[in-house]
Amino acid sequence: MYRAAAVFVLLSFIAACASAPSSRPGGTDFSSLSLCPGVVISNAPATGGGRRIANYDPQATVNGETLWRAPVEACVSSGFGPRRGGAGSFHHGVDLYTGRPAPIFAGGDGVVEAVKTMRGYGKTIVIRHGRGVETRYAHLSAYASGLKRGKRVSIGDYIGHTGDTGNATAVHLHYEILVDGRSHNPLTVGD
Ligand SMILES: [Zn+2]
Repeated sequence: MYRAAAVFVLLSFIAACASAPSSRPGGTDFSSLSLCPGVVISNAPATGGGRRIANYDPQATVNGETLWRAPVEACVSSGFGPRRGGAGSFHHGVDLYTGRPAPIFAGGDGVVEAVKTMRGYGKTIVIRHGRGVETRYAHLSAYASGLKRGKRVSIGDYIGHTGDTGNATAVHLHYEILVDGRSHNPLTVGD
């Protein structure tokens, strides 16, 4: 009796630990994307009504590869391209602010190319999708367990949590879409 209770408690504990979603939760709505309120974004994409990004299509087709333009439930805190002020440097991705650590999903089908800490990027994942297309995920707080170079992933698979590692001042995902090593605007690239 006692033993059965202990086993039950242990199983409950394991279940709780495994509660990180293995894929995009059904309730998550990625159909629209908005600019974060209360921030000035010098390179913001065009918006329609309010802060919603105009004509937003959650998926892009890049060299025949289907990719999500924003693989996390978030708002845009910085767009792609040159940024005014600060370092004034070119921004090679889009910043997706989540406020607190939130699950990140594979932007497309592919093979994990890298799971490592990179200078400035902090904890980073790179996924190779084929035909020269790659996606990069930076500033993570945690990786999905078992995620390593060579692992095959499907679009929507849970890969890690947003964070502020590396050169980041807030918890967000820095997301890049690369074609033959060149970064493109995730919000407008492809079809
Ligand atoms: Zn960024």
